[in-house]
Amino acid sequence: MMLCQMNKVFQKKISAVNGIGSCQIRIVLRYQVLCVLLLLYCFYELEKAYIKLWRAASESNMARATVRYSRWAWRFLTSNTQNEPFLSSAAATFSTAPENANPGRPGPPPIRVALTESSGRGVFATRKIETGELLHTAKPILSHPSLSALHKVCYFCLRKLKTTDAPQPHGVSYCSEECRQQAKGFHDIEMTADWSAYDDYCRSNRLKYPLLVKRLACMVMSGATPANLLDILQPASLSPEMISEMEEGYGLLRNAYINSNITDEQMSFLTKQWYIGILSRIRINAFRIELAGGYDDLLSSLAASIESEAAVGNAVYMLPSFYNHDCDPNAHIIWIENADGRLKALRDVDEGEELRICYIDASMDHDARQSFLSQGFGFQCNCPRCLSGD
Ligand SMILES: [Zn+2]
Ligand SMILES: [Zn+2]
Repeated sequence: MMLCQMNKVFQKKISAVNGIGSCQIRIVLRYQVLCVLLLLYCFYELEKAYIKLWRAASESNMARATVRYSRWAWRFLTSNTQNEPFLSSAAATFSTAPENANPGRPGPPPIRVALTESSGRGVFATRKIETGELLHTAKPILSHPSLSALHKVCYFCLRKLKTTDAPQPHGVSYCSEECRQQAKGFHDIEMTADWSAYDDYCRSNRLKYPLLVKRLACMVMSGATPANLLDILQPASLSPEMISEMEEGYGLLRNAYINSNITDEQMSFLTKQWYIGILSRIRINAFRIELAGGYDDLLSSLAASIESEAAVGNAVYMLPSFYNHDCDPNAHIIWIENADGRLKALRDVDEGEELRICYIDASMDHDARQSFLSQGFGFQCNCPRCLSGD
């Protein structure tokens, strides 16, 4: 295009210089050819520079994406390098796995686990988060229905059973074939033993956590999970009365297995120390699950609240256990239809801000909250709301 225009100019100039001597025409011609060559060289250099810039920009974008991803992975991994089981459990906890290879899938959760100044580990926002935003979902690593809900919910995922679901032998039911398959990790071992004495001990002492220990013990015996699964979680400090009550439970659990077909080798991990260690961790890390379903569920949970048993069960999660407490929290965990938890922001959160949930009923007054937290979780709350005396 440029060359055509230059030729036209050149033709015009030739016609303009008609009548000028041939020597002068040759000089003009050389001048034009030089200009064309110079222009071609400039185009060549410009294109080279453009290609370089384009490549640099692409590489820098890729590098930025890689750094962002690896920083998340690094933070997560380094915060847990002291304990191997956490890695696999945490990976299983996230439903938003960092599989960024597929652009249609969501990225990693906007959170990281890091040390706080005064409360041990905590969960922090890696970017600005808006009110109501889903932070991540969490599958339980351990769950069990309440004894009162045993025949009303799925024995694995705690989903409410339909009235058409036929009760199964041994009195437990699953909501789906998938849950039945996943329950194989504990079901077959559990069904070999007689649990009436252990369940009576839980019922008469109004205990729910020993049921979780029983399930974990069955999972370990069947090889579905390692015996140190919960070691990374913080244990509660226990009073001598609590320990003696736990020892009674330990004896009953051990007897149930001894009277079944379980071998000594399968039971080798099941020491008193293991039992008490697991229970002390479950005690301050388990979540009481109340399903927020439809209108029918609201009515039944209202009725259950009156009977002081709205929970369908209890469960232990890995990542949600790292959230610290606040009486005026900026995040919460909810359950819609089963034990899969959903962590959501309750208000706008800034990048770097710690995300905290409320471990107890936030509507209680100052003294009741302090009493519950001190007795149930072993700490005195110094959150801004408590410090203000509210
Ligand atoms: Zn289920
Ligand atoms: Zn507080």
